[in-house]
Amino acid sequence: TAFTSPPLDELLVENVKLSRFTKPTPVQKYSIPIVAAKRDLMACAQTGSGKTGGFLFPVLSQSFIAGPAPIEQSEGNIFTSNKAYPTALILAPTRELVSQIFDESKKFSYRSWMKSCVVYGGADVNSQIRLLERGCDLLVATPGRLNDLLERGKISLRNIKFLVLDEADRMLDMGFEPQIRHIVQGCDMPGVHDRQTLLFSATFPKDIQMLAKDFLKEYIFLSV
Ligand code: AMP
Repeated sequence: TAFTSPPLDELLVENVKLSRFTKPTPVQKYSIPIVAAKRDLMACAQTGSGKTGGFLFPVLSQSFIAGPAPIEQSEGNIFTSNKAYPTALILAPTRELVSQIFDESKKFSYRSWMKSCVVYGGADVNSQIRLLERGCDLLVATPGRLNDLLERGKISLRNIKFLVLDEADRMLDMGFEPQIRHIVQGCDMPGVHDRQTLLFSATFPKDIQMLAKDFLKEYIFLSV
């Protein structure tokens, strides 16, 4: 099998070809139609399995097809507001990992409407805020720094359509569970349930099963 459209958006297929990826890895092959069918996903996948593409390809593809969120969905006037309103949010445990995901996201969203941003702790927050103010459609973040920016009022999660938790087991090992729960609550607008959630983890112990139960709705379980 090759990367074909549909269900993948044509521009995404072209961008994937520019990377010289000729065929999807198993996690990519299965995640693409699951996300296109608007389902939530719990995926057990190791580093090296192509799991980054496993969530980026379907999330970018569906986002390209959907187009930007209407301006009315933003609080106040988007042209005077200095808040970022991403439509896709990817959480990962470390600076290294979010930076890698951000690089891939930029590459695969080439020539699209989507602008990617990355935020992580241990670096100057003001330069991250300045980049967010220039627009952010897909945000890759570590949980602690994202909460800091939410408290500062620099990011709104009200437009989030895709939420990805990558390496969820590592995030829990690092003690990020309270921050993650706070962030997920912030994505839940009263009366609105049009968000898709994708949970990626190398292992599937009790605490990850609890996250899946609390964050996902009628999810598909994928193990590769
Ligand atoms: P990951 O598991 O996401 O860290 O990916 C592991 C490596 O596989 C990375 O260097 C990717 O660039 C590469 N990769 C991901 N998907 C594909 C694909 N479909 N074809 C070839 N290489 C890939």
